[in-house]
Amino acid sequence: MPEQPVSETTERPDAPGGAAERPTGTALFDAVVNLCKRRGFVFPSAEIYGGIRSTYDYGPLGALMLRNVKDAWWRAMVQERDDVVPLDAAILTNPKVWEASGHLATFTDPLVDCRSCHERSRADHLESDASGRPVCPHCGSIDLTEARPFNLMFKTFVGPVEDEASVAYLRPETAQGMFVNFSNVQTTMRRKPPFGIAQLGRSFRNEITPGNFVFRTREFEQMEMEYFVPPAESPTWFAYWCEQRMSWYRRYGIPETMLQLRHHETEELSHYSSGTADVEFAFPWGWGELEGIANRTDFDLKAHSEHSGVRLEYFDQASGERYVPHVIEPAAGATRTMMAFLIAAYDEDEVAGERRSVLRLHPRLAPYQVAVLPLSKKPELAPLTDEILAACRRHVVCERDETQSIGRRYRRQDEIGTPLCVTVDFDSLNDRRVTVRDRDTTAQERIAVDDVASYVLERVGN
Ligand code: ATP
Repeated sequence: MPEQPVSETTERPDAPGGAAERPTGTALFDAVVNLCKRRGFVFPSAEIYGGIRSTYDYGPLGALMLRNVKDAWWRAMVQERDDVVPLDAAILTNPKVWEASGHLATFTDPLVDCRSCHERSRADHLESDASGRPVCPHCGSIDLTEARPFNLMFKTFVGPVEDEASVAYLRPETAQGMFVNFSNVQTTMRRKPPFGIAQLGRSFRNEITPGNFVFRTREFEQMEMEYFVPPAESPTWFAYWCEQRMSWYRRYGIPETMLQLRHHETEELSHYSSGTADVEFAFPWGWGELEGIANRTDFDLKAHSEHSGVRLEYFDQASGERYVPHVIEPAAGATRTMMAFLIAAYDEDEVAGERRSVLRLHPRLAPYQVAVLPLSKKPELAPLTDEILAACRRHVVCERDETQSIGRRYRRQDEIGTPLCVTVDFDSLNDRRVTVRDRDTTAQERIAVDDVASYVLERVGN
């Protein structure tokens, strides 16, 4: 039998009046990491060979969810806008790009080695002891080497000969693809500032201290947009994009209490930036960056103009106006953000006296939007199950789940964040009605088979 409707609070446990059952801190982190492995979101890479430090493979549910995170970004940044166009630039490119961008000269982290425990740490991340001396974050020793710079770009060789002339780098960010294609895009798409170029894809950094699960990895996915504006308008657009990006995280379910915008102090600003703000999330170990929003001025276009000898600027033929646009860059990490969404969504509560874990993900971010559950494996239920799946699959990702008791199946779907379960029972064969059950409230309603797809679409939203 489908489980009885249970009336429960839908409030977040950390909201006033909610039952404070959700784990916090390390327990929350462990619960999420454990769930990711157990339910096929994220596996250690090449686990059968013992893995490779801080490298991960996205399993079936992780691949679905990561795609959803990127789609959600794409929807907001490209699809829903008139003024942003997409780009998909190469990962391997001319190394002169990295010379011009400053990555070859300055993309370095200062490093120290601990002479006691031999762990390596970033010099700019060390805490100090009572006398102000930096201490090793691993063993507390103050016996540290001098800081040394380390270039974070992965170097490789293009073609069969491994010499200086064939050196290339894996891109450490996607942004430069937008700058070097500025004129191509602007002229082919007939754009006038303000307009943006958006791109998502893999980036690679030989991070010294990867860790905290997929928070910091050497291979990761970025979602970046370069918004080219008339110079005088850049402060206004910087404020605009800070607001837009904060509202994106809210739209997809990060609660206000777990989100903050932190403006950089002047001394913290990069050499090219006239203003930077980080969107930060309350990770179990403290606030961490999800996205950096920077006013990069005309630094990048000017640098590439100088190095390439090709003028990168906006010229308005009608008015004769000519200038180098300034750039506002919202640069986010897809993999890191997916982790934030998982942490924000993880919850534990009780249903009908039984403890459950539930991912209260935004329906569009959940790996599956709908699970269709025939009450039994009897062949009579199969055609209607197929019919519902076919209708829903035109719009969303669905799972057919037909093993074990219906209660077990609901728990399984709750744990992976499936917002809606549709149960097909023997009455459905006569009345063409099915039970739809809501992940968060566990409330159930009976609706017509012919309405399932539109019901789902409305509930899932965008
Ligand atoms: P951090 O200070 O954490 O190293 P950053 O300021 O160098 O990050 P940006 O260059 O601004 O990061 O990159 C934009 C976004 O890309 C970051 O906000 C983050 O979400 C993501 N990102 C950067 N480095 C990594 C990494 N090693 N692993 C996963 N995501 C990353």
